[in-house]
Order: sequence, then structure tokens, then C-alpha cells
Amino acid sequence: MDSLWSDTDAETFIARYADKGANADVALRVYTSRLLGGDPRLVLHGGGNTSVKTTQHDLLGDDVSVLCVKGSGWDLGDIEPAGLPAVRLDPLLRLEALEKLSDEDMVNVQRGNLLDSTAPNPSVETLLHAFLPHKFIDHTHSTAILSISDQPDGEAICADVFGGTMGSVPYIMPGFALAKSAAQIYRQSPDVGGLILHKHGIFTFGDSAREAYERMIDAVTLAEHRLQEGRNSVFVAASLPDNIATAADVAPILRGLAAASVGDDRWQRMVLDFRTGPAILNYVNGAEVGRYSQIGVVTPDHNIRIKNTPVLLPAPQTGDLGAFRVAAQATFDAFADAYRVYFERHNPRQETPKTMLDLVPRVALVPGLGLFGMGDSPKSAGVAADLAENTVETITDAEAIGTYDCVSEADMFDIEYWSLEQAKLGKGAEKPLARQVVAITGAGGAIGTATAKAFAAEGAVVAALDIDQEAAAVAVSGLGGAAFACDVTDSASVEAAFARICERFGGVDVVVSNAGAAWSGRIADVDNDILRQSFELNFFAHQSVAQAAVRIMRAQGTGGALVFNTSKQAVNPGPDFGPYGLPKAATLSLVRQYALDHGAEGIRANAVNADRIRSGLLDDDMIAARAEARGVSEKDYMSGNLLHQEVRAEDVADAFVFLAKAPRTTAAVLTVDGGNIAAALR
Ligand code: ZN
Repeated sequence: MDSLWSDTDAETFIARYADKGANADVALRVYTSRLLGGDPRLVLHGGGNTSVKTTQHDLLGDDVSVLCVKGSGWDLGDIEPAGLPAVRLDPLLRLEALEKLSDEDMVNVQRGNLLDSTAPNPSVETLLHAFLPHKFIDHTHSTAILSISDQPDGEAICADVFGGTMGSVPYIMPGFALAKSAAQIYRQSPDVGGLILHKHGIFTFGDSAREAYERMIDAVTLAEHRLQEGRNSVFVAASLPDNIATAADVAPILRGLAAASVGDDRWQRMVLDFRTGPAILNYVNGAEVGRYSQIGVVTPDHNIRIKNTPVLLPAPQTGDLGAFRVAAQATFDAFADAYRVYFERHNPRQETPKTMLDLVPRVALVPGLGLFGMGDSPKSAGVAADLAENTVETITDAEAIGTYDCVSEADMFDIEYWSLEQAKLGKGAEKPLARQVVAITGAGGAIGTATAKAFAAEGAVVAALDIDQEAAAVAVSGLGGAAFACDVTDSASVEAAFARICERFGGVDVVVSNAGAAWSGRIADVDNDILRQSFELNFFAHQSVAQAAVRIMRAQGTGGALVFNTSKQAVNPGPDFGPYGLPKAATLSLVRQYALDHGAEGIRANAVNADRIRSGLLDDDMIAARAEARGVSEKDYMSGNLLHQEVRAEDVADAFVFLAKAPRTTAAVLTVDGGNIAAALR
């Protein structure tokens, strides 16, 4: 691993932050923190922490000696001075004389000594940073360091690799006791450049930001070299069937198994994130994957995000997914049972009884295929998948030079149920459509774009589909979803788009079948090709989309909602508008057929009957022409309804959202047309 230190960059940081009132110490602390945070082999998702001891002014203008240490909720990769709250150093140093300090008292004294009372909570490893005397201190959970220290004889391996250059701290959970122990061990050999915290990570320190950082790089490089020596050929492959099913077929099954019923036909769903590649396949296909994958997390604080172990599934075969589902169900049940037993085994020795967390795994390993991260959002599923990939790398290297080992189950429990770790997760109330994946066709148009926004506002994960992928990307930008190219008139393109959605998010819960276009012509004269073209888009495409979605919804077994954009033409034909109205009328029947045939599976089908919306189907030129033909102004034409109000794309979007959320409504048509008595259904 190479040092990325650059004098020029360091000067740039000092100049940039001087303008914002931060001193050079803090600016350099930000600079090297970002260097560490930018490399996933060192730091992943909020892992690791850094500090600098410096001087700041309090309100009275007096110099105060402070520790600026990473604050909770910040990531080293994009940290700012605000992410390094300043804590008065002297009161922290006096704490070392105490015999014991509870977590609550520790948090309280840290917060009580913040220079800025609105700053985030200082890191749970603040006291370790305080008790060591160095100006700059860096802490990471480096993959290479973990690979050599996560071994039954990890301390001996590290002693061999580092000689006397690094101190050695046996595993103790973070907090006051670890801080005291690390400081004592440091004082016994004050020449060391850092400390190895066994089965946890590494601290390096120095008088300057560069020294602490480069000691980290040097130590990790030594560990990397050790991992290249005398490697065993790892992971003899298990014999697997050669007809492995696809991730798109497997994801909805797993997503259904991971969903927990919360009563009243409602589900607490998970979002999935599929990963594969040579390293992952080497790991999940290994004959001994049942051993090395089930030992535990590579560093304790991973377990709050991915639990202690993943579920290990059988290899799925195409054409035999029923058998896979049965076996996978048993695997998930066994995971839940084991988790309950684990909780009951360790809860009784806690000072205050804990409340058991959910029984859902966060990582699923699928031999022949790869792995899935699971979470309550695409972001947390991605974090789980990233940590799982990091685990693959750490354990693969550990097994190459020895045998992977980690902290005890009791130690893992203490971290998983540690109040200070749970606080990192921050649980707010969820929005109504949180954890639900909505696929929207025609997402690039005015109604599609408004619909994407409306669903995202309700917490849904938006998969935006459009024949123009860039238009779909624009619709979903800033919403945290994803865009997929899809020609809805080509069933292969529809299947492919839904397969991509399954790989990206695990499945689909709501479909807004919205894509459409208008054709006209007097019915006795119209060219047959025009009529067929319109049927392709305004009827058969709805069928292809619904078919693809229902197949996924059935695999999930957690119901679903289909919402179709039909038109007032479906019930109130306009003159010369047969080519548009006829397929829309067929689509209205299609809605009812889906409601009828799939209601028993919890799949609802409803329609929105919108009219006269400013969009690609009714652009400014068309509005002008129609207004002129009727001898009214454009404004009067657009508000020519019972309410005398123009109907907006957002109104249609709200109707889609309402129907997606209405648990007891199916086979309904909701008009969004400002009132058109000739098109009123009932
Ligand atoms: Zn740590």
C-alpha cells in the first residue's frame, strides 16, 4: 500500500480551512483522515477514527487544549472540521485515574466537555485517543491487519511481522477499559509507532499528521507482504451443479424469506444488493464455506450492520427453484432459531436486560452465484454488501496463511447489544412505503417523473424505466433509486429490465405501468398498422410489464400492487381517437382480470383514469391546436372540467401513490380529470 501524502495537497487543505476558521492541525487532520477514508482496504462506512490534540479558543478567547476526535455519524472519507468535535483534553486525561467508568458516564463527560454543545457525540474510542500522548492518532480496521491478527496465533504472527515496532493489545471491547489498557501497554514500550488491537484493528500515531498516516501505511504494507508469503492454495471448490439459477431468479425468493409479517397482510420487507466476481465465487464455492463463513465478523463493530454470521444457502438450480425455496426457508428458520438461542445465552449476564433485535440475516451467501447484502434501504443493503465483500477478502487471506478466527461469541454479543453501538444506527420512524420497490414505466415523461418523486417522498425505492435510459436517470436523480433502459413493447426488454431490478434491489412490490402514446384516426379509415402499433404499446406492453412483475411478486410471496395508467378514452371514447381508446379499454379490462386472477395472492390491480394532462402525449402544440379548434383559450381548454382546474402530472402521481397504499382496494378506477361526467364510472 502506497502513501498518498502530497505536500501540495496538504498546503491546499491548510489554506482552504484557514478561510473557514480551522487551524492547520485540524486542516491536516481532515486531509489524512480523508486519505484513510478513501481506501476501502482501510476504512469502510463509518469505521475507524482519527484525532488531533490542538489548541482552540473558547468563547472568552482563552486558549483551551482540546482533543478533536471523529464524531459519531461522520465518515472519514468525506469528513469536515465539523466532524471532528473539540473536547477539552484536561478533564478527559483526569479520567484515567478512575477504576471504573460506566458507558453512560463516559458519554456524559465527553459531551459535557465539548466546546460546541451542538457537536456530534465524540467517537466511542475517544478516551483511547486522549490517553495516548501523541498529537496525531489514526485508527483503522485494515483488511490486511485483520487477516494476520484474526488467527488463533494472531499475536505471534503480528510479533513476527512487526518486531518491536508495534505494541500488542489483547481484545477488550471499546470504551474506558480498552483505553486504559492501551495506554498502559503503550507506556511499557514508548518507542512503538502504533498498537495492534487484536481481532479489532490498528492504531498508529505520531507528532505530525504525515507521520501517523505513513506509519499506518507502513504497518499495513508489512501485513500485506506477510499475506503473500507461503500462501496455501485456499478454498478447494465444492462440486456444484452446472445449471446454476440466475441472481434475478433467486433474489425475490430470498427477499420474500427475509420479509417479516407484521400482521394485516403487511410486511417488513428488506432491500437486497447482489454482488459477485471471482473473489466472491472462490469464497462461496469453497468446500469448507460452511466452516469459515460461520465463525463470526472480522472486526466486532461489523456485527451491528451484518450480524455475526451470514446465511449460507444451497446452490440454486434452474428448473428446480421450488426445491431451492424449501431449502432456503429451512436455512432462514435455522438462522432465526440460532439467533434466538444466541440472544438467550448471553442476555442473562447483561447488567440491564436487552431487547432482542430482529431475526433477519443481513448477508446471504449463495454458492455458484455470489452474495446478497440486505438492509432497510438500498444504502444499508449496499453497506451490508460492502462489509460482506470486505469479509470475503479478510477471511480469504486469513485462511491463506493460517486459520481464520475472531473474538468470542460473548464478545460479539457485548458489541452487538452495546447501547453506544446501537446509537450509531439511529432509528427514525419509517415512511409509509419504506423498503418497497416501485417500478415506473415511462418514467422519463411528465407523469412518470412526477410519479417517481411522489413515491420517493413516501419512502419507496424507485426503479425508473424508460426506453430512454437517460430520461429515466433524470427522473430518478436525487431520489436514491436507479434508472433502467426498457422498451415496454419488447417482452425480452421488459424481462431484462425486471431482472436488473432484482439484482439491484432484490425484487419489486409496486408497478406503475404508465408508458403510453396516442394515435388517432377515424376508425373505418385507419391503417391497421396504426391500430396494431397502438395495441402494442397501450395494451400488450401493460400485459408484459404486469406479467414480469407478478412473476417476481409471487416468488416473494408478499403480495404487491399493480397500478395502470388508463385513460378516460377507455370509458368515454373521443371522436377519431379509436386507435388510442380501444387498447386503453382493453387495458381497463386487463386491470380487472389481474385483480380477479391474482387477488388471492395479495396482488392488487387498479387503474388511474387521467385526462388532459400536460405531457408528451399532450404537448403545447397539441393544446394550442385543440383550443383553437374549440374556439377557447388554452387555459380554458386545459381547465375545461367540472372543477375548472387544470389537472397536473402531480395529481396523477398522487393517485398512483394512493392506490399503491390502499390495502383493501383492488379492481378500482380512480379518475383524475377535474371532473368529466361523461367519463364518470360509477
Ligand atoms: Zn475500532
